[in-house]
Amino acid sequence: MHLVCFERKEVRTGLPAVAEAVLPSGALPPGLEGGAARPGCPRLGALLPTGPQAGDVVDLNRALAVRLALEDVGAPEAAADAVLPSDPLAFLRRLDISLAEARGVLDFVTSSLGRWDAPDLVRAEVVLPRRQVRLAAPVPRPGKIVAVARNYGAHAQERDGAAPEEPVLFLKAPSAVIGPEDDIVLPRASETVDYEGELALVIGRRARHLPIERALDCVAGYTVANDVSARDFQNVRGQHFIGKSCDTFAPLGPALVTADEIPDPQDLGLHTLVSGELLQSARTKEMIFPVAAILAFASRLMTLEPGDVILTGTPSGVGAARRPPRWLRDGDVVEVEIERIGRLANGVRREPA
Ligand code: ZN
Repeated sequence: MHLVCFERKEVRTGLPAVAEAVLPSGALPPGLEGGAARPGCPRLGALLPTGPQAGDVVDLNRALAVRLALEDVGAPEAAADAVLPSDPLAFLRRLDISLAEARGVLDFVTSSLGRWDAPDLVRAEVVLPRRQVRLAAPVPRPGKIVAVARNYGAHAQERDGAAPEEPVLFLKAPSAVIGPEDDIVLPRASETVDYEGELALVIGRRARHLPIERALDCVAGYTVANDVSARDFQNVRGQHFIGKSCDTFAPLGPALVTADEIPDPQDLGLHTLVSGELLQSARTKEMIFPVAAILAFASRLMTLEPGDVILTGTPSGVGAARRPPRWLRDGDVVEVEIERIGRLANGVRREPA
């Protein structure tokens, strides 16, 4: 399943339209209020995988409430909130229950879309056309972002030559996260902002002391990340934390692809393009420490919690290692594409003086 966090671009329809869409009488079933997605309220959705509406967003919580209302379940919205919350973090905290419900409700929606006598799920605000929504990061505010430095041999070489003997971890501030429709902002204070295309994991089960052979069990899914870095702070001044944590320096998305769809995270192609020029190209099997080893190592020292994000390191080809260096510029577009997971594209603009 491709889970997304979305908000509606503008308020539309109202109670009567929703009511007509769900019941022929035009009345809302008891307990089903009109309120669905609104601007400014990010909600969890899933992308429709196939059919003429492929890529449109299903409001999962709304879909369950509508289904329960049609089944005459009392207080359908409260019942839906209890098992399939619209908040991405609440969803991850009860991952097994939420995922099972999400799969069931996505089946309900896809089978309804093919039936002439089904409720109008677009008017009921269960299915939202892609153009009507704005996507946020699939985890808009992670608990922590743990990143791995120099995890591809060729990148370690282009940076300082040494391959680390154990994963070298650092933190990025959760406030740096932006979504797939947001711009990376080059801070006034930095002249040398760089891109790093990376595979990101999202934790779905609390984990401490993970054995390596079961380490992937804690992963809810995978997404695409750009570990944007201000090199003049990170390297020149040794200010690693702040050089990695400027506002907008952690683009994530567009979707969280659930772990069942990615049986082998070490066999994915990764490409980074800046304004159309291919600058990074690798496969995740080139990682020095595979995903499971990173998780096992980190969980020896800290609890990994649902909603934490792990960035697994970038391959060679970053801007700082090029001659001349290729720093991000106002007007650039950075695209990071990972096979089977998606393509994350962000514009770049300079912070106004
Ligand atoms: Zn990185």
